Amino acid sequence: MEKSFTKIWESCLSVIKDNVSSQSFKTWFEPIKPIKLSNSVLTLQVPSQFFYEWLEEHYITLLKKTIKKELGNEGRLEYSIIMENSYNNTSKPYTVKIPTNNKKELKNPSVSMPIDLNNSSIRNPFIIPGLKKVNVESQLNSNYSFENFIEGDCNRLARSAGYAVSGKPGGTAFNPLLIYGGVGLGKTHLSHAIGIQIKNNFPNKTVLYVSSEKFTQQYIDSVRNNNQNDFIHFYQMIDVLIIDDVQYFAGKEKTQDVFFHIFNHLHQSGKQIILTADKAPVEMQGFEQRLLSRFKWGLAADLQNPGLETRIAILEKKVYADGIDIPKDVIEYLAYSISTNVRELEGALISLLAQSSMNKKTISLELARQMIDKFVKNTAREVSIDYIQKVVCDYFELPLELLKSKTRKREVVQARQIAMYFAKSMTKSSLATIGLHCGGKDHATVLHACKTVNNLMDTDKRFKTYIEDLNKKITIQ
Ligand code: ADP
Ligand code: MG
Repeated sequence: MEKSFTKIWESCLSVIKDNVSSQSFKTWFEPIKPIKLSNSVLTLQVPSQFFYEWLEEHYITLLKKTIKKELGNEGRLEYSIIMENSYNNTSKPYTVKIPTNNKKELKNPSVSMPIDLNNSSIRNPFIIPGLKKVNVESQLNSNYSFENFIEGDCNRLARSAGYAVSGKPGGTAFNPLLIYGGVGLGKTHLSHAIGIQIKNNFPNKTVLYVSSEKFTQQYIDSVRNNNQNDFIHFYQMIDVLIIDDVQYFAGKEKTQDVFFHIFNHLHQSGKQIILTADKAPVEMQGFEQRLLSRFKWGLAADLQNPGLETRIAILEKKVYADGIDIPKDVIEYLAYSISTNVRELEGALISLLAQSSMNKKTISLELARQMIDKFVKNTAREVSIDYIQKVVCDYFELPLELLKSKTRKREVVQARQIAMYFAKSMTKSSLATIGLHCGGKDHATVLHACKTVNNLMDTDKRFKTYIEDLNKKITIQ
């Protein structure tokens, strides 16, 4: 005589309970409802596709064993996935046939589940429970717009890819879009800009920015509070998910696991994923291979150190936006002196403003110099090649472009040699780097330049005074 399907499932559960942690049991087995049994096929209703995938991936062996124990070798399992319909809010089960004797690989029943956020009872990890209805706040900072993001050679690819994505989220080849680069180069800013632009273009899309630290913390909390499902479902509802600094996921297997599934779900449903990281996917350590390979699916675009013109433009934009009046030479001086990254550049500007307002001094080149001396002292500052070139060009009244060009005009050649000489003696740059900055010359040319300058100083008095003058100008008083 066949037992009723509820009885069968109860027996299965009692076996399962002994084989998994109580937390996993609560999360992954309690929500399952048995709905029918016919011809040795037991149908289980599960809350989502994700849920089904998770069971298949993590508990398939256990499920198979218990089903066979109860129903004999003929025993099979079918899942019925609840689809929530956003228009009439009725749930209709979608049945996927999955024989339990299949291999480990995941089947993709490609169920799409439009979920209405407002009707959903899923807990939003961004909101303290009980306080508010679910309403996804994008967590975007409106200052970090495209408008405020200066374009330069250093960011052209990433910026234009981001812009393309914002016009067609999920609909370009750039999914995921991974923006990577060193600290302070604008990864967070650009990722916000994309989110903001998408919100402008498609106000109904749910956009969410989250740092990987916050994501991890929320996941850990959800495990502790036993509402992992809510956490996962919440993230599966997002149309555009932006996760900042994913390198932070390194070595965190559980978080990577859950993110992997969320990623797959979103990607399969044509949702846009935007990630930032401090290095290229090939250089990332501590990541599961399957996740790394996903990172490479779309486009990985890097942010480089901004060149001088971009640094000046960034400062000018900032100064203009804040309505401050700063002499052009001060802006240039800051841009010349700080070439590490944009954050430090902005930091220098802020310090300068603070200095001037606290001490009631007008903003001048003099003040900027004093400030830079203090500001950059502990980062072992060295004069930049850029700055040396600028001073040399000003001194000889030559356009900077000429010095950086390949021209062999006599007066340019000499100025270039002098710039090389100072770059060699005042910076730690290699001969090759110096050559590259000065008209794309090779290291031998730079070496020759240094010798020539030394020789001339010994033989030509006028030349010697040039060098001494310049030395004073370059070394900040
Ligand atoms: P990251 O996330 O790469 O460490 P951020 O996005 O936080 O860097 O950028 C650091 C600061 O520099 C921010 O204040 C940002 O607005 C500014 N910034 C970076 N790149 C640009 C740019 N291209 N134009 C304007 N501001 C920029
Ligand atoms: Mg950042």
